[in-house]
Amino acid sequence: MDISRIKVNKVRLRKDLEALGKFGEEPDGGILRPALSEADLKAREWFKGRMRDAGLQVREDAVANIIGRLEPASGAEGGPCIATGSHTDAVLHGGKFDGAAGLCCSLEALRAIQESGIPVPCPLELMVFTDEEGGHYAGTFGSRAMFNLLVEGEIYKSRGAGRPFLAQSLERMGKDPAQSGKAVRSPSEFRAFLELHIEQGPVLDSLGIPIGVVEGIVAIDRHMIEVEGKAGHAGTTPMRLRDDALVKAARIVTAVNRAVRSLGADIVGTIGEMKVHPGAFNIIPGRVEMTLDLRSMKKSILKTARGKIREILRSTRGASLATALSKDRARKDRKIMEFIEESCRQRGVSWKRMGSGAGHDAMTFPTQGIPTGMIFIPCKEGKSHCPEEAIRWEDAAIGAQILADTIMRIGFNIGTKSTSGKVRAH
Ligand SMILES: [Zn+2]
Repeated sequence: MDISRIKVNKVRLRKDLEALGKFGEEPDGGILRPALSEADLKAREWFKGRMRDAGLQVREDAVANIIGRLEPASGAEGGPCIATGSHTDAVLHGGKFDGAAGLCCSLEALRAIQESGIPVPCPLELMVFTDEEGGHYAGTFGSRAMFNLLVEGEIYKSRGAGRPFLAQSLERMGKDPAQSGKAVRSPSEFRAFLELHIEQGPVLDSLGIPIGVVEGIVAIDRHMIEVEGKAGHAGTTPMRLRDDALVKAARIVTAVNRAVRSLGADIVGTIGEMKVHPGAFNIIPGRVEMTLDLRSMKKSILKTARGKIREILRSTRGASLATALSKDRARKDRKIMEFIEESCRQRGVSWKRMGSGAGHDAMTFPTQGIPTGMIFIPCKEGKSHCPEEAIRWEDAAIGAQILADTIMRIGFNIGTKSTSGKVRAH
């Protein structure tokens, strides 16, 4: 099988990336496109159209994941598929390529495969996952819903007052949240899952290497911290009689930072969001809600950090913690990594094996025993989750090409000369 005649179209890919970047675009070049917002719904509709143009059968599941499917010309209909996917939603004031790069490169890969005239080896699927970024609650919602991994009642929770919860957004789309279980699929439907993503860090860009082969993704813990105090008049309540929730929260922020630092370089911890209630010039804060995100490649360190943080909260009156998400470290499949590396070798593209400090939908599939691979492409200076997020079109084209080749290598089981695991980065 000569898959070298599969050729992605760089111009077409660039046009798609530019078009998708228009939905929710802000004057500074950033993106305001939270999951299932007006901008996101428009982006999703546009992308569905592009999927149909590419000959995919498009459907939406009960939790709004979009699934485009390409059946083989004959024979293997209904068999397990090779899936790729990413997300259209973005963090607030984020960039244009987080998620979007994976979707547009996947689409281009599927188009190029069809145009090559080589028969598709098994069903191929392209998935747009709902709320990867956790705009509603905890993140990687769509992929977790697909494998029945949602936390009890999660669909009815939100990240804070005034923010919609998933059930509300689904209802607004005409879906019945009570039916969200219908999105669940069997792992046996999948032969493999691949996600292309921007690196969101500076390594590839600084080395001038276009492809990262992801070895593992960090374990992630997300918690909601609540601090109760006593609201009161800011003019008439003497300092000694106050129970100011924000003052207590500030102590927690610095204590948590100190505790995480004390554990060394293998863990990071961030309190990135805070809501002060009722939130006014002249009212003593009565309640504070904040988020805590902990990440490490080492489970034991994460556990130690959790213990230290619980201690900090126990020593603060009115403070409590609720776990929103706890994700184990996800290891990638060795054989899939070799398929990606063989694709790079055949195209004369350099690559590097690396870990991922960011979480992705691709973390969900290994938990189901589905062979999973991730391909990183560089982003300029490693900047991500900000308006300055940028890529080189050339790198996107290389990524799409390697993705297309890898899909076909997995499909036809070709080209991994080394099954001994000795394939190494060069
Ligand atoms: Zn992403």
